[in-house]
Amino acid sequence: ALTIGIVGLPNVGKSTLFNALTRAQVLAANYPFATIEPNVGVVPLPDPRLDRLAEVFGSERIVPATVSFVDIAGIVKGASEGEGLGNQFLANIREADAICLVTRAFADPDVVHVDGRVDALSDVDTVVTELVFSDVQTLEKAIPRLEKEVRGKKAEPIVLETAQKALDLLLTGETVDAHRADFDADALKQFGLMSAKPFIYAVNTDDAGLRDADFQAKVRAQLAPADVIFLDAKFESELVELEPEDAAEMLADSGQDEPGLDQLARVGFHTLGLQTYLTAGPKEARAWTIGQGWTAPQAAGVIHTDFQKGFIKAEVISFDDLVEVGSVAAARAAGKARMEGKDYVMHDGDVVEFRHGG
Ligand code: GDP
Repeated sequence: ALTIGIVGLPNVGKSTLFNALTRAQVLAANYPFATIEPNVGVVPLPDPRLDRLAEVFGSERIVPATVSFVDIAGIVKGASEGEGLGNQFLANIREADAICLVTRAFADPDVVHVDGRVDALSDVDTVVTELVFSDVQTLEKAIPRLEKEVRGKKAEPIVLETAQKALDLLLTGETVDAHRADFDADALKQFGLMSAKPFIYAVNTDDAGLRDADFQAKVRAQLAPADVIFLDAKFESELVELEPEDAAEMLADSGQDEPGLDQLARVGFHTLGLQTYLTAGPKEARAWTIGQGWTAPQAAGVIHTDFQKGFIKAEVISFDDLVEVGSVAAARAAGKARMEGKDYVMHDGDVVEFRHGG
C-alpha cells in the first residue's frame, strides 16, 4: 500500500500525532485491516457514503478504505544501530510515497522549540531546506556514475539528463514536485528524491490557532498549492480515547466540524492520487482503493485477480443516483444503472457490481 511518511523538527508533536493515528486504528480493529506494524498507522478513511449505502442495502458491516502513515523517526530509533542515523532516516523518507510535514504553531512554554521560537513557516523552511540539500547530494553523487554508465551504454541518456535537470532546479531553490510535469516520471523515480514527493502540511496548533482564520489563511497562502491541515495533536490524542458521543461533544465544544485526524486521512488519500469505488450487499458496504484514471477491469482486480482476468462488464450506478432512488431495482428501472465495458474509466463514488466469468 502507498504510505505517507511523517517528518518534522523535534518536539513539534509528531509522536503525539502518530499515537493518535495508531489509537484510531486500534479502535477500528474490527475492520479487516492488514497486519499491524509498529511504525505504520493504518487509519480508516472517513466516508459518510458508506453509512448511507449500508442503510440502503441493510449491510451488516462497513469496511472503509484506509490510509497508511509511517512514523519515520520511530523506525529510525529501532533500526539505526550500526548505521548513520541520518542515512537511515533519509532512506526511510525515500520509501514513502508522500510526506506529511508536521510543524509547530502551539505556544507552550513547557515544550522547548529547537529554534527557540514558534513559527510554523520557518519550521517548514528548515525541513524543506534539509531535504533539498540531501537531494542535491544524492544527485551530485549519481551524476558522475551515470556519465560513465551512459558512455558504456549501461544507462539510458534520459536518466542522466533527468538527474542534471533536477539538480539545476534544486540549486535554484525550487522543489521538483512543483515542476513534476517537466520530468520523465520513470527516470525521476529512480532517484527517490524527497523534494519530488507530494507534501501535506500538518500545522500542530492550539485552540487559539484553530479559531484564527487570518493565521490559517496566511499559512495556506504561503504553502499553496500543497494541502494544509490545522489540528491540535494533543486534543486529537484525547479525542480518540473517548466514547463516540463524548468525542462528538468535545469536538463541538472546540468549534471544529470534524476531527483533524479525519481531515488528515482524507487529504492524505487524495494527495497519494487515490480514489475509491463502492460495493454493497447484505453482508457489507465497502470502499475499495484504486488510482485515478483506472479502468473497470483494473478496479475489479482489487477485489480479486480473477475478477480482472475474467472481467465481462460492470454495472455502475453513481452514489448520488442510487441514494436518490433508494434501491438498485429502482435505479435500473429509472435507467440509472449503466453497463460498462473494459474501457470504462472509474469515477470516485461509483457503486459497482462486476460481472465476471471463470
Ligand atoms: P516529536 O518530537 O515531534 O515527536 O514531539 P512529541 O509528540 O514528542 O511532542 C513534544 C512535546 O510537545 C510533548 O511534551 C507533547 O506532549 C507536547 N505536544 C505535542 N503536541 C502538542 C500540542 O498540540 N499542544 C501542546 N501544548 N503540547 C503538545
